[in-house]
Amino acid sequence: MHTKPTVSFDNTGVAFAHKSDGALRKMYGLFALMHYPFLLFTAIKLANWGLKWNLPIKGLIKYTVFEQFCGGENIPDCGEKIKELATYGIGTILDYSVEGKMDVTSYDHTKAEILKTIRESAGKQYMPFAVFKVSGIANVTVLAKVQAGEQLTAEEQAAYTRAEKRIWELFDAAAENKVRIMVDGEESWFQDVIDSWVQAAMRKYNKETAVVYNTFQLYRHDMLRNLKDAHHDAVANGYFLGAKLVRGAYLEKERDRAREMGYPSPIQATKEATDRDYDKALQFCINNKQRVFLVSGTHNEVSNMVLTELVDLHGMRRNDERVYAAQLYGMSDAISFNLAKAGFNVAKYLPYGPIAEVLPYLSRRVEENSGIAGQSSREFLQLKKEIARRKSLSNKA
Ligand SMILES: Cc1cc2nc3c(=O)[nH]c(=O)nc-3n(C[C@H](O)[C@H](O)[C@H](O)COP(=O)(O)OP(=O)(O)OC[C@H]3O[C@@H](n4cnc5c(N)ncnc54)[C@H](O)[C@@H]3O)c2cc1C
Repeated sequence: MHTKPTVSFDNTGVAFAHKSDGALRKMYGLFALMHYPFLLFTAIKLANWGLKWNLPIKGLIKYTVFEQFCGGENIPDCGEKIKELATYGIGTILDYSVEGKMDVTSYDHTKAEILKTIRESAGKQYMPFAVFKVSGIANVTVLAKVQAGEQLTAEEQAAYTRAEKRIWELFDAAAENKVRIMVDGEESWFQDVIDSWVQAAMRKYNKETAVVYNTFQLYRHDMLRNLKDAHHDAVANGYFLGAKLVRGAYLEKERDRAREMGYPSPIQATKEATDRDYDKALQFCINNKQRVFLVSGTHNEVSNMVLTELVDLHGMRRNDERVYAAQLYGMSDAISFNLAKAGFNVAKYLPYGPIAEVLPYLSRRVEENSGIAGQSSREFLQLKKEIARRKSLSNKA
């Protein structure tokens, strides 16, 4: 009988096979530095300031954090990394990561850039999805007013209509190019508006297969229910639900706003509750695989292992197009490369954009990989282990 290879995330040889000894040492140095987040945040603040004043700091950023977490400044720059990931059976999801610019010109520019990522991904096996954040192409203050049921001014109404038009241009282009497109999940106070747009797009474009995917943030205590409701809508209206599961990235912001404005926090009371709902959501999606296409976006080893067990338990092919695991570029290689090696579908978000403009994205990665959020130690230990492993191999030789 043909047996499936077992999955382990401890195989650092597989995890870092794509890194030369030099590249590995450089990465180790960078992750070691992340144990001193104060130093890195100061460096990023200085970089922000330095880039504004045209100081020669770009090179330093470029060859350190930018190189670790981003693909390049534009799509052609990303080519090498896309190719490298594909060599190891890993797909790339181009992610234009310019954030926080709130004006019409930027929204139009960002939309045009996302259209490029859709066209770039068309017909390419190793570019299985496009992705975007609504906040990059729409004024979220206006969306929040819509969600709160407030009256819009004529100007705001026009902004809302333009935003809706941009979003549909992206859905239409994705469908036309046969590229699956994921819409990132954002803050709860305008997420309902995003959800209603994405649901309308799924009803239109997901009849034969999933083209459009919404995001479900399981750190919200209402999200497992929302996922089930979304599935119900898919059944009732005869379409496939595209579901990207994540835990959620705006925990502090959500809790702070709820406290300041005096409403109950939408966030789960504990990390354990988030973890429990994430794994239940995985189970729900696989149980309903006839109707659900799943992307599991997590760096959590337990959840990734749960996903592999569910796929095997249900007798699905590991490369069934309905199930993908996804991680961010530069993080959790032990998970991505080992999953791909064991035959599962894996893709990594590859952020790109002009260095000065992706600094907010880089700051978040530094935060996540520093002691503050506690994600890094494992990454760091794995790098250490791999360096030692290679050293002992060369000693034996
Ligand atoms: C491919 C990919 C796509 C992503 N897309 C999105 C997106 O569209 N929208 C989005 O918001 N995020 C997105 N994220 C980020 C994601 O939501 C998480 O912030 C990040 O991945 C860390 O969670 P984890 O599951 O990887 O790992 P873990 O380290 O196991 O979990 C950390 C997460 O647990 C939750 N948590 C931590 N402490 C508590 C607590 N005390 N109480 C309750 N919950 C807690 C938080 O969500 C925190 O981010 C994405 C991540 C990936 C890998």
